[in-house]
Amino acid sequence: MNLRIPGPTPLPLEILKVMGNQMINHRGPKYEAMQKEVVKKLQKVFQTENDVFLFTSSGTGGVEASITNTLSPGDKVLAIAAGVFGDRFAACAKAFGAEVVKLDFPWGQAADPDLIRKKLKANPDTKAVLVVFNETSTGVTNDMKAIAEVVHESSDALILVDAISGLGAIDLRTDEWGFDVVVTGSQKAWMCPPGLAMVSVSEKAWKAHATAKMPRFYWDFTAMKEFAEKGQTPFTPAITTIFALDKALDMILDEGIENVFARHRRVGEHTRSGVKELGLELFADESCASNTVTAVKVPSDIQADELLRIMREDHEVLIAGGMGRLKGKIVRIGHLGYVFEEDIDEVLEAMEASLNELRR
Ligand SMILES: *Cc1c(COP(=O)(O)O)cnc(C)c1O
Repeated sequence: MNLRIPGPTPLPLEILKVMGNQMINHRGPKYEAMQKEVVKKLQKVFQTENDVFLFTSSGTGGVEASITNTLSPGDKVLAIAAGVFGDRFAACAKAFGAEVVKLDFPWGQAADPDLIRKKLKANPDTKAVLVVFNETSTGVTNDMKAIAEVVHESSDALILVDAISGLGAIDLRTDEWGFDVVVTGSQKAWMCPPGLAMVSVSEKAWKAHATAKMPRFYWDFTAMKEFAEKGQTPFTPAITTIFALDKALDMILDEGIENVFARHRRVGEHTRSGVKELGLELFADESCASNTVTAVKVPSDIQADELLRIMREDHEVLIAGGMGRLKGKIVRIGHLGYVFEEDIDEVLEAMEASLNELRR
């Protein structure tokens, strides 16, 4: 099966091999050395000197941690949203008692920095801005450099980033552009199985953390830091996923992060032009189209579920449907992690053949 959903993704053989390794003691020297190395290598890909923590959870655990570790109930946050994951970030902050000011943009478009500036001017007491780097539900990548600039110019707010489906595939400069908490997940661009949320924490986020009163226990940054100094986590980590991540990071750094970004750009462009050659329309505005996931409008004479079924059953190609209000309206091709043009050619061929079958 050619699995082309936006995570989990197919893993290279080298990584599958290390996932067969025998268990080790997570309080022993072998584990300590591995965790410390993994963190050093992650810092290179996050482009940061900040602390980077490994939470054993899906990506959303990291999103929750970014909120509960830096905010108190009643704090005002500006939640930028243009899709399912932007909405979810806002909902998470709300669940922990933040006062959420929502700034919605049309789905399929990027967030407009000018409107963010206006909203921050109107809400000078904003403690944090929540933003999704790459909105997986619509196939849009936000201009994070421009967003960081307007936030820094017009406020002292922290910037919390759901970078789950972008980091490791698309350039995001944590320190240079100035992001306070950046979250990603092992099953997205990292060529790893699910199981880890990787989270970076800036100096400014640590200051906010010192007075942040939202309830937290498993997710506490202070406990994470205390244990990280000994190359450990407070609770038992997903050791097998860390074996995989250790190997994946070697592969990413051997290829070179610039080359990894260029490969995703190439494969992204290849996907978009291939989709258009089939006579299909892209859902996202091309000026902000994502290089990790492509959303394709389903033609009015075709049922999305049927298209997915025929691709899967007759052609062994699995792509994703639409989420939330886009269900039935779009399908999504994931192209992140260990992916090359040939993998996408198989998807496009399967899509063309399936459309022909449905129209026969
Ligand atoms: C996949 C994804 C999530 C959810 O991640 P889980 O690992 O399923 O918790 C959140 N945000 C974005 C942008 C994603 O792509």
